[in-house]
Amino acid sequence: MTAMYAYAQPAPDIVYDTTLTHFSSVEDVVATIADDLPIHVIYKRTIEQAAHAFLTSFPGEVMYAVKCNPTPAVLDMLARAGISAFDVASIEEIDAVRRIAPLAKMYFMHPVKSRKAIRHAYMAGIRDFSLDSQDELVKIIEETGADDLSLVIRLGLPKGDAALDLSGKFGVIGDEAVALMRDARKIASSLAISFHVGSQCMNPDSYARAIAMVRELVDQAGVDIDMLDVGGGFPVAYPGMTPPPLADFMKAITDAVELYDFGHLPLVCEPGRALVGEGGSVLVKVELRKDDKLYLNDGTFGALFDAGAIGWRYPVRVVGDRKQEDAKVQSFSFYGPTCDSMDYMEGPFLLPDDIEEGDWIEVSHLGAYGMAMRTRFNGFYSDLTVSVGPNEATGAVILPMPCHQGAAMAGTV
Ligand SMILES: *Cc1c(COP(=O)(O)O)cnc(C)c1O
Repeated sequence: MTAMYAYAQPAPDIVYDTTLTHFSSVEDVVATIADDLPIHVIYKRTIEQAAHAFLTSFPGEVMYAVKCNPTPAVLDMLARAGISAFDVASIEEIDAVRRIAPLAKMYFMHPVKSRKAIRHAYMAGIRDFSLDSQDELVKIIEETGADDLSLVIRLGLPKGDAALDLSGKFGVIGDEAVALMRDARKIASSLAISFHVGSQCMNPDSYARAIAMVRELVDQAGVDIDMLDVGGGFPVAYPGMTPPPLADFMKAITDAVELYDFGHLPLVCEPGRALVGEGGSVLVKVELRKDDKLYLNDGTFGALFDAGAIGWRYPVRVVGDRKQEDAKVQSFSFYGPTCDSMDYMEGPFLLPDDIEEGDWIEVSHLGAYGMAMRTRFNGFYSDLTVSVGPNEATGAVILPMPCHQGAAMAGTV
C-alpha cells in the first residue's frame, strides 16, 4: 500500500540562494572582506572542468554525491555543467536538489533510511533506492507500495586501496547478498548493483576487482540485473597523494565491464570528491603564532575536519605577495578556534617561516568534505562563501554582516 502522505514542500524559510559574490582573486577577497571569519571559496571554472572530465570520459550516467558539498551554488553549477543526476541521502538533500535542479534525476543512495525519508523521497518522485538488508527491503516496500521501484543493492567490499575505507559500515556480502538479490528481483521493476571502493581510491584495479565480485554474486544468485553502479571514490591530488589520472580509472572500469560481461548494461557512477574537491578552498586567518603552532579562525569543527580527524594534508599558501619568496619554508601544525583539544591539525603544513598574526592562509582542495562538515560548536561558524576565478563580472562589494553567527553573503555572480 502506498502510505497516505503529502509531499512536504521545503520550508519556505529555507533560501536556496545559488548566487555568490564574485572576485577575481583570493587576494581581492581578503582585501575586500575585512572581517575575521573564515571564508569559503568556490572555483566555478574548476568545478565545471571536473564535471566535463567525467561527462566526457565515463561511459554512463554521472551522479553527484551531494553530501560532499551541498552548497546551493555548487549544485547549480554542476547542474548547469551537465550533471543531471544526484545521489541524495536525506530529506534535506532531496529538497535542495528538487529546488535547484528540478529536472534532475535523484537516486536515494543511503542504504539505511528512516521511513519518513523513504516516503518523502517517493512523493518527491524518487524511484531508485539503495539497500543492503532484507529489513530495509521490507521498509521500502511498506512505505512505497513497491509497484515501480528501481532497487540498488549495495555490496560490501573487502578493504581496498582507498585512503578512506568504507567497508565496515554498509554493504551486504556473500550468501546474504545472493538472497537479497533474489528477493529484490521479485519485486523490482529494475534491479541494480552498486558498491563503493572507498573514498580517495588510489588504485584503478579496485574497481575491476569489485566488478569481478559483482559477476560472481550475480551468477550465484542467477538473476538478471538492469544496471551497474560503480560508486564513488575517484581521487584528487593532495600533498603526499598523487593519484593516477582519471583516464586510468575509466579504462579499468570499461575493461572490467567488458571482461565480466556487463557491457550491455547502463552504467552509473557516483563521484563526490572528484567533482568538487579541487574546486573549493577555505581562507583562514592566523590569530596567534606560538613557534611552529598556528592558531587559526577555523579548524576541525569547521571546514578542516579531515585535517584533524584523519590527519589529511591540504595544499596551503599565504595569501598576498609578502616576502614569501625569500622566506624559508617551515613545517607548522594548526590549532582551530574552539577550546577543544581535538581542534588540532598535525600537518605538517609547509609555510614561510615569517608567517605571523593577521596573515591569511588559503587551504586548498577543500571543495569536498570541507564546508560540508562545519558545525556551530563553541560559537564558531561561517557561511561567508564567495566565488573566485578569471573572466567573470566582478560582483558588487558586499560588506560582511557584523555578527559571527552565520554571516551570509548576498550578491550576484
Ligand atoms: C559519499 C558517497 C559517495 C561519494 O564518494 P567520493 O569518495 O566522495 O567520490 C558516493 N556514493 C555513496 C553512496 C556515498 O555515500
